[in-house]
Amino acid sequence: MRKRNNKLVTILSALVIILSVIFVIAHFASSKSSKPKDNTNAGTTVTQQDKTEKEETENSGTKASVTTGATTAATTAKTETVTEKAAAIPPVTTEKYDGTARYAAFTFDDGPSPTITNEVLKVLRDNNARATFFILGQNAKAYPNIVKNIVNSGCEVGSHSYSHKNYAKLTSSEIKSDLSNSVKAIEEVSGTTVRLFRLPYGSKSDTVKQSINLPIILWSYDTRDWAYKIKKNDKRSASQIEADRKAIVNKLLNSIRDGEIVLMHDMNKMTLDVCKEVIPALVKDGWKIVSVSELAAMRDKELKSGTIYSMPIKDAKKTS
Ligand SMILES: [Zn+2]
Repeated sequence: MRKRNNKLVTILSALVIILSVIFVIAHFASSKSSKPKDNTNAGTTVTQQDKTEKEETENSGTKASVTTGATTAATTAKTETVTEKAAAIPPVTTEKYDGTARYAAFTFDDGPSPTITNEVLKVLRDNNARATFFILGQNAKAYPNIVKNIVNSGCEVGSHSYSHKNYAKLTSSEIKSDLSNSVKAIEEVSGTTVRLFRLPYGSKSDTVKQSINLPIILWSYDTRDWAYKIKKNDKRSASQIEADRKAIVNKLLNSIRDGEIVLMHDMNKMTLDVCKEVIPALVKDGWKIVSVSELAAMRDKELKSGTIYSMPIKDAKKTS
């Protein structure tokens, strides 16, 4: 009887083990097959993850320098965004400079602004133009939808610090912390990777250069739009304001150079009114208005972390 019971116990134990094994295999197989389904349903978030993974692969898989890899990845990510969300805008250019066309990068600082940025984006879209917006982390948090509009218009977002502190007056750890907070805020709302930085006030120092792990893009042409912005109780007459606007427009149209990095601020109406005339005029004259990363990529120019760029980007760097 005891022998019989032992046999029964052995058989039952074996059965339990077999069933357990079958259960584990079945569970593993089902979790594997449900993965693609999860990806399809999760939408934007997963798409962004895929992009990030792709970017990491590109960066680690290439023999080219990290900066070149990052530039390529940035272009890829932005092209995908444009295709998905803003079909009316042509994809970000991947063309190389052919030696004849003239290109300029337009850059807008301190925004986004709830009243001006969308209007600037409309001017850019209407002229098949793009730009780089150097935005403040605190403004990204305040106006997330405008940041999304920037990206959906095929434009680039860079960091301009969190709250426009003068970095030359900060310690290295304060700079790193502020920059990190800014980048995090912008990336969270834009869904893109921040690859460029513009210094508030253009204030530079050795500590600043050593503390910033992004290319530092200044400008090669200052429109001085900030000096002529229209104030609430502006003492200028309407005709004087118009004369100031016209002076900014004419000076830029007469002196803009190939590869120029143009500084403006999408925070005031003066800037918008300047853009409304300058951008169509340049495009009509054969210019292409692009983002900073596009300008650099088409000239095979590497943008290196901790390096300050304040000259027109036009010298092609030979790549092997
Ligand atoms: Zn600024």
